[in-house]
Amino acid sequence: MDIYQEKLDEQRKYFLTGETRNIRHRKNNLKRLYEAIKENEDMILQALAEDLGKSRTEGYATEVGIVLNELRNAIRNVSKWARKKSVPTALLHFPSRSYVIKEPIGSVLIMSPWNYPFQLTMVPFIGALAAGCTVIVKPSRYSQATSKAMKHIINDYFPEKECFLFEGGREVNTALLDLKWDYIFFTGSPSVGKIVLSKAAENLTPVTLELGGKSPVIITEHSDEVLAAKRLIYGKFLNLGQTCVAPDYILIHKSKTKRFLSEVEKGIKKAFGEDPISSPDYGKIINRHHYERLMGLIKGSPVYYGGKRDDEKLKIAPTILFPVCVDEPVMQEEIFGPVMPVIEYEDLDEAIKFINDRPHPLALYIFSDRKSEIEKVHGLTLFGGGCINDAIMHIVSHNLPFGGVGNSGMGSYHGKRSFDTFTHEKGILKHYKWPDITLRNPPYKGKDKIIRLMLH
Ligand code: NAD
Repeated sequence: MDIYQEKLDEQRKYFLTGETRNIRHRKNNLKRLYEAIKENEDMILQALAEDLGKSRTEGYATEVGIVLNELRNAIRNVSKWARKKSVPTALLHFPSRSYVIKEPIGSVLIMSPWNYPFQLTMVPFIGALAAGCTVIVKPSRYSQATSKAMKHIINDYFPEKECFLFEGGREVNTALLDLKWDYIFFTGSPSVGKIVLSKAAENLTPVTLELGGKSPVIITEHSDEVLAAKRLIYGKFLNLGQTCVAPDYILIHKSKTKRFLSEVEKGIKKAFGEDPISSPDYGKIINRHHYERLMGLIKGSPVYYGGKRDDEKLKIAPTILFPVCVDEPVMQEEIFGPVMPVIEYEDLDEAIKFINDRPHPLALYIFSDRKSEIEKVHGLTLFGGGCINDAIMHIVSHNLPFGGVGNSGMGSYHGKRSFDTFTHEKGILKHYKWPDITLRNPPYKGKDKIIRLMLH
């Protein structure tokens, strides 16, 4: 038996003791995780700097801080979330009552990517702990320093029979996917998402797929293009565009292009200086493979601004591509880098059609001052979630569901939804012994009218 099957068996055995269901146990786990993160905050921030060149402020704001916030919310609310919930019972079932038991789904697998390696591993992990599951975690090999830090937090602070992190490459993922899980939570690309879904299908294992794709921005005729430029600089160039919900490309009304482009240029200089690749607030591309891929995308389109690079440090300065045609390489795949293609449109219907001709995006951002334009775009397109007059910030709220649709994923999490993800709702009807009304039993003669009335 391999070590993966052994570990899963050990965890499943422990799960079946029922200890993880205890609410005090779950709360203690969440508190333990909170303390472990606080104790190791420096190590985590250093690891994020090593893997992705993230400054301490960015590392805290986009990873550690978000995780601690989710943890505080879960600690505060887990008892309420896990409570048995009474629901109404139809008159036909009198005398009885109905309720829903919130059951941990079992022994689960969490697989995460490298771009926000800490946050995208820990937030689902919090959901699984809150729900009372046992968990095996497999982070990406590309973000090794952060994986090491998380290994310390999970493997040294929690018993192996409950939580365990495996490091390693694709072969480890493949071996883990071959096992029979009670739930798989996967964050990554649509292409690997398909592999995960097909492996899960073999055992009818339920999954959450948090995937990616090209998330569009629409800047309409009736928008504040100066504000759009300012807010998109943050959304697009944070973590050098290596963000699943980063604005991928811009569809802009042609009356707004000139001012928008000049404001983006100004804004980049203000945020990162004349030489962004030497800014302490500007990170790096994860590895040479992705660096070369991005350079290839830039080569295929006209560079309006930026494009400077550092081959050694794997840095690419914010790069604006304009004018871009739909058949250029940059429009054929998710960019996942600091490259902003800008495409003009004349009529809003054209922009909507452009989006609907492509797979459902994970996020959509519209910049507009007109309610009618916003409602039209929201009403005619399907996407995971998004912002009006901003970008990426919707993912920070634990009250909003975060997840894609179709090609960008299935399922959602954050806040209570993370708990729900790893929870099975068991519906129970308790029928009292007395009075024992036998209306439902044959013979039915003379009962038709009353049954219809009670079912109404
Ligand atoms: P990826 O799909 O290449 O890798 C994700 C995980 O799958 C990693 O742990 C990796 O080791 C593993 N993996 C890779 N190839 C595999 C294979 N053939 N079989 C089994 N496992 C395999 O994704 P990535 O490059 O790490 O991340 C980038 C992608 O993830 C982008 O598409 C991005 O949009 C998406 N993403 C989505 C979210 C979200 O929350 N929706 C967040 C971050 C990233």
